[in-house]
Amino acid sequence: MHKYKRILLKLSGESLMGDKNFGMDSDVISQYAKEIKSVTDLGIEVALVIGGGNIYRGMNEAETGIERAHGDYMGMLATVINGMALQAGLEKVGLFTRLQSAIKMEQIAEPYIRRRAIRHLEKGRIVIFGAGTGNPYFTTDTAGSLRAIEINADVILKGTRVDGVYTADPEKDSTATKYDEVTYQECLTKNLRIMDMTAFTLCMENSLPIIVFDMNREGNLKRLVEGEKVGTLIH
Ligand code: UDP
Repeated sequence: MHKYKRILLKLSGESLMGDKNFGMDSDVISQYAKEIKSVTDLGIEVALVIGGGNIYRGMNEAETGIERAHGDYMGMLATVINGMALQAGLEKVGLFTRLQSAIKMEQIAEPYIRRRAIRHLEKGRIVIFGAGTGNPYFTTDTAGSLRAIEINADVILKGTRVDGVYTADPEKDSTATKYDEVTYQECLTKNLRIMDMTAFTLCMENSLPIIVFDMNREGNLKRLVEGEKVGTLIH
């Protein structure tokens, strides 16, 4: 038996780079596609939000000389490129997908329509939400939280390169230990940074559990949805 019926998986743009320092690595994409297939094969409905940090981040106005809001729109477009790459990877392993964009671009993606997204999920299609929230000054973590709540996902899974949330940065502090579970409130008091505040608050206010886990360990996603203790649960 598996624990969840509908999940929203949030992947960072950078995770697609693998060992490269820009863009995306086709091995990573096909690995992620396999991982995702292993859970859709169980009958679990999967929605995806992908970041854009491997291509463009809007926040560094000082560095790029591009106004923040303008750069943010560029960042949102980057998420659509990643979404299309993931879509191609997922279709290669035989999955059915739909890409929905928060910014209209009808030739390549459906516009975001909540009820339609839900219908696709019910039919077993993977829905990829592109272009973040469609608004500057937000992040794709916020898009992930928002969409997860909108589609009534049971949980948001934040796939990262680390295997969970630690008491301190494990790379700087050798005494740091991993939490199996932690409450939203504890995250706030201990200043554990899981997501940006906007994204985190949305989850907390709507009681959407978050699981931070290592997406790069083979089989982890499947173990997680089957109820094994993988990563850190924030609830
Ligand atoms: N972005 C935005 N609004 C959103 C989501 C994303 O403006 O709702 C922009 C923002 O500039 C951000 C970039 O898109 O830096 C890429 O997203 P993010 O940094 O969240 O990607 P990740 O870190 O997950 O790769």
